[in-house]
Parts: sequence; structure tokens; C-alpha cells
Amino acid sequence: MELWQQMIRDSIHSVDQLVEKFGIDRNAAKKLDKLFQARINPYYLSLIRYQGDPIWKQCVPDVKELDDMEGSFDPLNEDEMSPVPNITHRYPDRCLFLISSQCGMYCRFCTRKRKVGDSGKISMNKLESAFNYIEKHTEIRDVILSGGDPLMLTDVMLEKILKRLRGIPHVEIIRLGTKMPCVLPHRITPNLCSVIKKYHPIYINTHFNHPWEITQESSKACQMLVDAGCPVNNQAVLMRDINTDPEVMKELFLKLLKIRVRPYYLFMTDETRSTMHFRTSIAEGIEVIEKLRGHTSGLAIPHFAIDAPGGGGKIPLLPDYVLHKDEDKIVLRNYKNEVYVYKEVKRVNENDILEENDDSNDNGFADPMIIKENKGITEEVI
Ligand code: SF4
Repeated sequence: MELWQQMIRDSIHSVDQLVEKFGIDRNAAKKLDKLFQARINPYYLSLIRYQGDPIWKQCVPDVKELDDMEGSFDPLNEDEMSPVPNITHRYPDRCLFLISSQCGMYCRFCTRKRKVGDSGKISMNKLESAFNYIEKHTEIRDVILSGGDPLMLTDVMLEKILKRLRGIPHVEIIRLGTKMPCVLPHRITPNLCSVIKKYHPIYINTHFNHPWEITQESSKACQMLVDAGCPVNNQAVLMRDINTDPEVMKELFLKLLKIRVRPYYLFMTDETRSTMHFRTSIAEGIEVIEKLRGHTSGLAIPHFAIDAPGGGGKIPLLPDYVLHKDEDKIVLRNYKNEVYVYKEVKRVNENDILEENDDSNDNGFADPMIIKENKGITEEVI
């Protein structure tokens, strides 16, 4: 047995352990276990510094979960968009392929908790119909392997899936959505990397939410994946009392860059049942981005987005930088709240870029002139 597998075995998972280790009332612990079981492996447990800290909140069941029975079990409508078991096909050229119901740690805010936990939630017997679906749908050029966590599979099983996908000519890109580099970095072994290397291009989407998750072990895991030729991107979730402080987020994103992981998305929490206590206002998310943009490298700034309820897909959100817009110009503010005007251009044929001149001709129409360059001009305009 490999070290990571031993750590899964040694995880805190039972009601008795929740009562003993975290002092949760036994009745509440039983209800929480029924709602969504716990799994806290020894590595992630070791990151907790004090009761109720940002690591604790992500992994230890909380009685507040029992107060929110309003949210949906499937807020992104993934099951409706599932033409065959294990596949969600929402966007035209890519699909989600669920290949494991297990994770290295069960996150209390998980959107897919209906699919995660016991092994029956995602059937491994139904993979064939999923492969057939991808083979028939030649528009699918990008397959995102997820679950659960695909790296909960053994190297042998994972390789079988990668090999089969690589045999489908129209599948150009394979993405692995895995939280293992963050929650159980020991899973990233030289053998796993040598398997992955054979089936490029493979992109990794991982999931760090707090700078304390960046340790020697997780840094090494990410760098091994990058050295194996995988671009590694991070998808974080904004959560109350965990990471809404812009300084915490800045620290996280800058540290990610140092371990060669690109901050890719920052999501608002989904409207998943029993996660209300994690939710923040949109304004808090906008503030995080506002305090990053211009103040640090663009490389460190993820797309801030809502994954639209009901399956509408990812919709980006930005601080409002556009103060005014009309057919002649756009008026913008920068990160220091200085105002700039950028002149609009009009294309009258394929080769010329033309701008309306302020000097009108006799007919009252503006004479067009070819713009050589656009300059930002600070002025009072509105
Ligand atoms: S690793 Fe992902 S799928 Fe697994 S419990 Fe956490 S959020 Fe859910």
C-alpha cells in the first residue's frame, strides 16, 4: 500500500471520532454524518492550528450545516445535463466525466456531495457508456476528469482511462480536476507523473483556498506536476471566515505563483444545501479583486465568477471600471480611481480603422480620419 492510501485509511471519518476529536454532540454528529460523511486525513488534519481556523472550517463538520435545508443538492443542474451516466455535457465542445466518488478529504462546502462519499454514488460499471458518448460526439475536444477526485484511482486504473481517451481522435485536451495537491500531496508520486506524461496535453485544475495550505509537501506536489509537463491552475472558492480578507487572498495567489500554479478562477460559493454559513456577499468578492487589480501582477489575479444556478455556466464578475460609454468614447477609471478616456473607433471597410472627427463638415457629418494611435487622456468628462 502506498503512503497516500495508508493516509486515507487513517483518516477521521466515524461519528465516534467526530465526537472524541472535535467535541461534536453525538446526536448532531450522527445527523451530520448522514448528511455528508467526514474524511479528514492525517496530513490535512496536521494543518489545523486552532479550533475554528480556516483549515478546520473546511473539513470539520459544523452543526450550522443542519440549519440550511433550503439549498439544492444539485445547484448547477449537472444531473439534468447528463445524457449518460457519469457525463455532464453543458458546453458545446467540452464535457465533464466523473470517474470517482472518492476524495482525499471531504470538503464541507462541496457542491457535488450528492455524488461524493460512498462508492455507489458514481458507478464505475457505467464508464463504457460514457466512453461511447464521447466517441460519438465529435464536437467534444476537451474532457474534464472529475468526481470526486480522479486521483483517488490507482495509477493503473487512471492510465486505462487516459489511454482510452487518447485513442479518441477528436479529444484534444484532457483536464484533471483534483484537490490532491492541496489535501493529500503525497498522492503526487513519480510513478503517477510518469503515467500522466504519456498522455499529454493534460492540464491540472487544483483547488487551494487558503495560504496555510501551501506547505513544503503541497509545493513539491505542484512542482512535480509542472515538471511532468502539466500546466497547473487553481480554482478557489470565496468563503466566509476563511478567505474573504483581500490580504489573505493576495498571499494565497502570490504563493501559488511561486509554486508555479496559476490562479485561474475565484468562485462565489454555489447554492448547495447545508453550505449557507460559508456564503459571502458578492461585494466582498468584488472587493478582493479590486484590491488586487493594479496592486499586484495580473498573473496573480484569477477570473472572479459565479457558476450560475441551474446550469447557466460560469459568468465573470468585475469591479465597475467603466464610468461611461457612448458611440464616441469609453470613460474608465483605473485602480487608483484616476479617470481616462479612450476614443472609440469605427471600421468603415476591412482595411481602415476610422474615427469620427470632432470637426463636422458642411452637412453636419463628421469627417473620418485614420487613427494612428489611441492615447489615454485624463480629463473631466462626465
Ligand atoms: S475534493 Fe472536490 S469533489 Fe471532493 S469533497 Fe472536496 S470539493 Fe467535493
